Amino acid sequence: MSALVEIRGLTRHFDLGRNQIVHAVDDVSLDIAPREIVGLVGESGSGKSTLGKTMLGLHDKTAGEVVYKGETLPQRYAAADFQRYARAMQMIFQDPYSSLNPRMTVGEIVAEGLRLHTDLASHDIRDRVSEWLERVGLNAGHTSRYPHEFSGGQRQRIGIARALIMEPEFVVCDEPISALDVSVQAQVVNLLGELKESLGLTMLFIAHDLSMVRYISDRMAVMYLGSLIELGPANRVFFHPKHPYTEMLVGSNPEPDPATERNRPPTAIRGEIPSPVNVGAGCRFANRCPKVMDVCRGETPELRVVEDEGNAERIVACHLY
Ligand code: ADP
Ligand code: MG
Repeated sequence: MSALVEIRGLTRHFDLGRNQIVHAVDDVSLDIAPREIVGLVGESGSGKSTLGKTMLGLHDKTAGEVVYKGETLPQRYAAADFQRYARAMQMIFQDPYSSLNPRMTVGEIVAEGLRLHTDLASHDIRDRVSEWLERVGLNAGHTSRYPHEFSGGQRQRIGIARALIMEPEFVVCDEPISALDVSVQAQVVNLLGELKESLGLTMLFIAHDLSMVRYISDRMAVMYLGSLIELGPANRVFFHPKHPYTEMLVGSNPEPDPATERNRPPTAIRGEIPSPVNVGAGCRFANRCPKVMDVCRGETPELRVVEDEGNAERIVACHLY
């Protein structure tokens, strides 16, 4: 099957001046099939949001390319490019408290993309806004209310309506539930799952909670310090992680043990994620890896296929394999 979105060697650095370069995303390649959900996990600071934003043109690409339905997207978006691609590719942001303009009504927020990027008449836009508020489980009569009048879960629904009203084919969901109470997280994930099915969406689903990613995703991608280090079928990666970093992430994710129905104690991740400024050769995980070998400090491991299950292969960047 040919991919809907392909990223090839995608790289995004931030130049802080004085020869300090942040390697936020380094040489990441990934194909996403139509209607596929790829979950993207990794500690805070591993480059997940930067990857999502760079894919959608919200950051210029330092190197590499994004191909959408066979078309190579611009290295740097001009205003007309946002207009052109906004209908195809949208982002749902992490924080429903800061990503909605507090001075705009809900009606204005949800309508904004259609106003800016289409020439629909205002009565058509109004109808679509009502339809979308209902679709995400909000009261269509509440268009003149402001974001602060809604709960966190309702605000995230507003953010979902704002993105999906554009009828995109590809959506980056950047930790769409991590700012919400545990009790509403499942509701928002279920809503996203239903909309994904009814609209035939393709998604990059960024999240902290690995068990949630396993539940919603077809494949799981793991990033560490700007690099893609493991990718494969979500269940395989979750239950049989190969990269020592993935093992640590899975171990630190409290998930009820089916035998005892009690949370197994999380294994602590050793140490802090290092700074991505001016990273050199060698495996980026070497200084925290319990299985580190001499070769790891000098040579950067390449992504290799270590398991092949039909059309969903597992790739891992680790000198152990
Ligand atoms: P994640 O979403 O996985 O937490 P981010 O993509 O937000 O990671 O950040 C990756 C790295 O890039 C971090 O070290 C972060 O500090 C840095 N970074 C992100 N945005 C910028 C920016 N605009 N300027 C400089 N550094 C940035
Ligand atoms: Mg982030």
